[in-house]
Amino acid sequence: MGMNMSVLPAGFGAMVFDDEVMRARLPKEIYETLRRTVRDSRHLDLGVANIVASAMKDWAIEKGATHFTHWFQPLTGVTAEKHDSFVSPVGDGKVIMEFSGKELVKGESDASSFPSGGLRATFEARGYTAWDATSYAFIKGNTLCIPTAFCSYGGEALDKKTPLLRSMEAINRQALRVLRLFGNEDVTSVKTTVGPEQEYFLIDRDLFDKRRDLVFTGRTLFGAKAPKGQELDDHYYGSIKPRVAAFMREVDEELWKLGVLAKTEHNEAAPAQHELAPVFTTTNIAADHNQLTMEILQRVAGKHGLVCLLHEKPFAGVNGSGKHNNWSISTDTGVNLLEPGETPHDNAQFLLFLAAVIKAVDDYQDLLRVSVASAGNDHRLGANEAPPAIVSIFLGDEIAGVLDAIETDSPYGQKEKELLRIGVHTLPKFPKDTTDRNRTSPFAFTGNKFEFRMLGSSASISSANVVLNTAVADTLRVFADRLEGAEDLNAALHALIRETIKDHRRILFNGNGYDDSWKKEAEARGLLNMPTTPDCLPAMLSEKNVRLFTENKVLSETELHSRFEIYMENYCKVLNIEAQTMVDMAKREIVPAVSSYLGKLSSDANQMRRFLGGAVDTTVEENLVSTLSACNATCFARTVQLERALDRFHAMKGDIRSRAAFARDTLIPAMEALRETADEMEPMTAKDYWPFPTYADLLFSVR
Ligand code: ADP
Ligand code: MG
Repeated sequence: MGMNMSVLPAGFGAMVFDDEVMRARLPKEIYETLRRTVRDSRHLDLGVANIVASAMKDWAIEKGATHFTHWFQPLTGVTAEKHDSFVSPVGDGKVIMEFSGKELVKGESDASSFPSGGLRATFEARGYTAWDATSYAFIKGNTLCIPTAFCSYGGEALDKKTPLLRSMEAINRQALRVLRLFGNEDVTSVKTTVGPEQEYFLIDRDLFDKRRDLVFTGRTLFGAKAPKGQELDDHYYGSIKPRVAAFMREVDEELWKLGVLAKTEHNEAAPAQHELAPVFTTTNIAADHNQLTMEILQRVAGKHGLVCLLHEKPFAGVNGSGKHNNWSISTDTGVNLLEPGETPHDNAQFLLFLAAVIKAVDDYQDLLRVSVASAGNDHRLGANEAPPAIVSIFLGDEIAGVLDAIETDSPYGQKEKELLRIGVHTLPKFPKDTTDRNRTSPFAFTGNKFEFRMLGSSASISSANVVLNTAVADTLRVFADRLEGAEDLNAALHALIRETIKDHRRILFNGNGYDDSWKKEAEARGLLNMPTTPDCLPAMLSEKNVRLFTENKVLSETELHSRFEIYMENYCKVLNIEAQTMVDMAKREIVPAVSSYLGKLSSDANQMRRFLGGAVDTTVEENLVSTLSACNATCFARTVQLERALDRFHAMKGDIRSRAAFARDTLIPAMEALRETADEMEPMTAKDYWPFPTYADLLFSVR
């Protein structure tokens, strides 16, 4: 994208209580104390908090704020039922005039309306929110928003931010140990960085309102293919329509005010699909920013008479929307640890971090799949335009070549005939390869970062990064344990990297991930393929994974169980709403519409016969009536079948696993069958009779 960070857009960060504002408005020692507290992740002293709160209040009032709120990310995620509330403030926000350090640092809230997966008994419905001082406060509308973590009274995490912060601490601890081995004494902290590319669809608001499936579920549950799809590739990087351009300009401006460096100007592969890419930043801030981005996209769309669809698969047969999570690790001295570098010393260190990522992704492929699981994303993973549900890593020829040479103890490169031996300070330079790109890999090395492409467009990026950070932290811990105890560090380093490549080679795949043969090969390699959410979620509770999260102090066993319950329940709820919406639309819209049209065809034929007697040809009407009435009968029968399946689903007691399995194995096929007949009738029914806008209307409506 090549955005020049040194030239910030006008108004950038105007609504953010950022470092610059703090430095200007806080007494020097308070500013320094706050900075140290943030850097070392320590608790904020109440005296300091009071002074910060007071300065924050004055600043916010000058900017026109009248209210404040603790802003947090409960476990609801962004689902069809909750699109508008995933980051909504508690209540109406509280009036800002009284704002103390205590209110800044900690808030009490009635947590009973947020899911807890059994963590919070109803009689103990209180939860609390605690300021994440690493993420700046900002003003949205007339409200000062304080980014917070959200916990139960017993201290269990009820949100997406808490484990993310814990995972950042875990990787910081272990990466520092590894860096010390390479003699890096100046580094005091290591953080992961993320730049999430966000895909979305824009459609006309009036058309959206006419479709109950879009209104209730965020995706079309019916709809025949449009005569034109994305086959011409004319939308991708095509020119942007004026209405969309105006929308994008406003999104950029709104995000810039909030300190999000977004650059939105480009179309995606499907018609009406677009992408927004921000400049990367520290992971927990990137997560906050991505939530804000999704919110702003939807709000600004509304102002332009548009709707922004964040669903992973709003249209069948058209590209889905994902989120590319560009991830790297970086030091407070400004070094990107996944940058191959120019000097041997950097290369060896790079190779060790690279090896850690490879091992982590292989050992925890199940958790990476879990981290992107949702009912919506199931339509995308495994479909032909998206990464398959199998996790594998693409490295590119250059890096793969280096690893091959190390693994087989063979010469590397044309000129150097020496064996490639890694020591802390010995390794040949390898040229950086930026040319080869693999668009089909779910986890691709792209020069100095990894791009994890399995995330769904509506998801919080937290879950994926919690897994990445924790899995890599744990692997670095294993590495550091081994290397710290080594007698000969160079020999141990070489052996460790070589062994890691050998042991985890199966996860490396440079071929076409969309090819059917890959599924077979992946199976032969012993890689996991878990196509649906209920298939993969139970992996959260396996012994290996519970150990990973508990030992690294990221999630307790109780917290894991609660998350498992919430995600499974969410899957069931989404499918329930979708199935009910289909029944409703079929019974009250589609079947009656087709009946009316059949009546119209019959009376037309009758009138024609009455008018012209035997001389008239009514075979068109007759054939249509016969085909379409048979279809309509099937459609009605399938609606009844789906309704019965829903009745059984509602009557199910049993555990969440069997309910989710029923949704997957019985509801989904019944929904697909119903859709099939409805979509067959659509092109046979006169335009004026079809009860809602078609794919052609929706996808080509915005100009
Ligand atoms: P590409 O052309 O490979 O997609 P870009 O420069 O456009 O590369 O970057 C894509 C995304 O990756 C952007 O959001 C960018 O900010 C992010 N990114 C770049 N470097 C890093 C990094 N070191 N850590 C995390 N994200 C990064
Ligand atoms: Mg990308």
